[in-house]
Amino acid sequence: MTEKKNIAILGSTGSIGTQALDVIRANREAFAVEVLTGHGNADLLIKQALEFSPNTVVIADESKYQQVKEALQPHDIKVFAGNKAIAQVVQMESIDMVLAAIVGYAGLESTISAIRAGKQIALANKETLVVAGELVTQLAKENGVNLYPVDSEHSAIFQCLAGEFHNPVEKIYLTASGGPFRGKDKSFLSTVKKEQALKHPNWEMGAKITIDSASLMNKGLEVIEAKWLFGLKPEQIDVIVHPQSIVHSIVQFTDGSMKAQMGLPDMKLPIQYAMAYPQRIRSDFPRFDFLKYPQLTFEQADTKTFRNLALAYAAMNKGGNAPCVLNAANEVAVESFLRDRIGFLQMSDVVEKCLEKVDFIAKPGYDDYVATDKEARRVALEMI
Ligand code: NAD
Ligand code: MG
Repeated sequence: MTEKKNIAILGSTGSIGTQALDVIRANREAFAVEVLTGHGNADLLIKQALEFSPNTVVIADESKYQQVKEALQPHDIKVFAGNKAIAQVVQMESIDMVLAAIVGYAGLESTISAIRAGKQIALANKETLVVAGELVTQLAKENGVNLYPVDSEHSAIFQCLAGEFHNPVEKIYLTASGGPFRGKDKSFLSTVKKEQALKHPNWEMGAKITIDSASLMNKGLEVIEAKWLFGLKPEQIDVIVHPQSIVHSIVQFTDGSMKAQMGLPDMKLPIQYAMAYPQRIRSDFPRFDFLKYPQLTFEQADTKTFRNLALAYAAMNKGGNAPCVLNAANEVAVESFLRDRIGFLQMSDVVEKCLEKVDFIAKPGYDDYVATDKEARRVALEMI
């Protein structure tokens, strides 16, 4: 690589954000950090800024502004607070690429703002495409912006498509680990506590996506994400449970040939691929050993027990603002489950009821998404 890429990391204090900084730490000749943002963890944000010397730091939680400012201003690092500031700083001239790694709907505004400014996007924040996939992909097209997937399954599909130019895709298979409750029935699920749901067998991730993985909502969100990223029809997207998480996803072409991308589960790989594209950077991540995995297995997803996946397909098929409703209801449901206010299975009830109750909009614009998100949260909270 000749020139350093200047990266803005939105959500640098999270699971994806900290792993992105691991990648940058190991590849200082390829990347520089221009912006860091976090929500509440001011201590970590300050520590990261002191190590990576970004131009600008934003703390979303305004009550932490003084603390961050006092720590960083002596080092000539600009400090701002609030989500509006995040949406503004992503437009800075000096930024080449924005890693969108804020969790949930909260990441939508800044990602759209970065796209409008023509920044290349490494997209971890799948909710952005679930909520407003049509708008976001349209804006990306208009502004000549590529959306490089960070989600491991979508990175796998993207890697399988490299070099295929205009060869049509017949279908894709998104692999799913099945999460910690694979094979369990509803009576078991009705008793599970957040401590059990937060233990993912193969991946260490933020709390929200870990619960989504246990409930299969994560795979539902990923199906919708794939539709927009790769311009596919709903019937071209299939989910297959693969408990070992070695095959990260599969593309099937119109001649019947299938390409899969494989490797040990490690998010640093897709993060690095998205940031360095089209290059592959040498890494010392642990390598796969066939003898340690004598069996790679595949099975059908149980959508009768894990209803969220079926609900996500239904929302995708309905289109319009339905996926936005699905996402908002799910965010409220997950937060309520994490606060012990509802049970594991009730999360699907909340999502289903919101999909029924919130007014359908066939062709939503940005303001409609904002209003839909708000209304779906209100309806969801009413049920809890
Ligand atoms: P996380 O909870 O670990 O981190 C979230 C980050 O966003 C933190 O830096 C937090 O400070 C910031 N944030 C949270 N709420 C915010 C708000 N309201 N305003 C501004 N900033 C806010 O989450 P994560 O696991 O790193 O996931 C981030 C995104 O990446 C999610 O959309 C997730 O679905 C996606 N993703 C994560 C993984 C993974 O392995 N963790 C894998 C694939 C996709
Ligand atoms: Mg994923």
